[in-house]
Amino acid sequence: MRVFVNKVIPDLGMKLMQDAGIEVTVWKQERPLDREEAIAYCKGHDAFLNVGQKGVDADFLRQCRHLKVIALHSVGFDNVDVEEATRLKIPIGNTPFVLNRATAETALLLMLTVSRKALYMHKKIAFGGWGISQPTKDLGMDLYGKTLGIVGLGRIGAEFGRMAGRALGMKIIYYNRNPNPAAEKELDARLVTFDELLAESDVVSVHTALTEETKGKFGREAFEKMKRSAIFINTARGGIHHEKELTEALQKNVIWGAGLDVTDPEPMHPDNPLLEMENAVVFPHIGSATKETRDAMSRLAAENIIAGLKGEELPYPVNPEIYEEG
Ligand code: NAP
Repeated sequence: MRVFVNKVIPDLGMKLMQDAGIEVTVWKQERPLDREEAIAYCKGHDAFLNVGQKGVDADFLRQCRHLKVIALHSVGFDNVDVEEATRLKIPIGNTPFVLNRATAETALLLMLTVSRKALYMHKKIAFGGWGISQPTKDLGMDLYGKTLGIVGLGRIGAEFGRMAGRALGMKIIYYNRNPNPAAEKELDARLVTFDELLAESDVVSVHTALTEETKGKFGREAFEKMKRSAIFINTARGGIHHEKELTEALQKNVIWGAGLDVTDPEPMHPDNPLLEMENAVVFPHIGSATKETRDAMSRLAAENIIAGLKGEELPYPVNPEIYEEG
């Protein structure tokens, strides 16, 4: 049995697959594979461990319908046409739970950094601009006791709510399609409408998947409904906010600041105005980028590959309905 891995992953996951007798081919070049190359490799293998390869669409899947499993090295699965995979009975696996903390910590880091203009201040002194301290200049905003609005109170959203509630005494409100009673109880969180969340929050943080429903959800209209003093945080997917309209909202002081771990496209162009703004902070999609978390993600992805190649149900399936009778 042979698996194709499109980027170097931690040894932990590699060893698990090799110990299970699986032959592993890894694309080790620095340049990313293009879609056609990825298809060609998949055609010569029985399984695909996909680290962020985009464009796994219906045509890709039909050409690779022989695959016994596609294991994603991520919890997000917006880069795969899951509906078509289900139709073709290709099991798709992901890596839930193990990256909740690291990603929530990234949201916390962005929120704190933006609230104190920390990155801008660092850049300022690096260029000789320390100057004389003025009591009324370069002020940030307190977070303690403020309202955090979480759009998508799921695994990562709830973890961020927990951190912000415990560390900063923030009050939590949230917007989901369905209530999350367990998280409501634990976090003393209140379910509100999307518009209520925009109007009431001092910080709005997005934690939904990227879907047709959430794509571009944060554009001019949403920013105009937020407080002028509000901070927008996105650690979910870049496509959920409209980048040009976010830039304008920051330039015109429609909102106070923004922290992004995700952009659209990725990588962000170095000339992007957001990178020069006092009230914006951008990270290069580092939500899950800790040693411990990446090790754990490689373990879950390897477990999905091993199960899939044995013809067993994946331990972390995205499309469990393929196992239903009929
Ligand atoms: P999750 O547990 O499925 O949580 C997603 C939450 O979003 C659910 O509570 C869901 O509740 C809500 N939701 C879905 N669609 C919605 C909509 N249209 N409107 C409002 N709420 C909606 O997922 P997770 O594990 O927390 O991961 C969330 C996302 O984070 C992933 O999909 C991924 O894209 C992103 N992520 C990014 C990084 C990074 O490196 N920056 C790392 C990990 C994950 P309802 O279904 O009730 O609406």
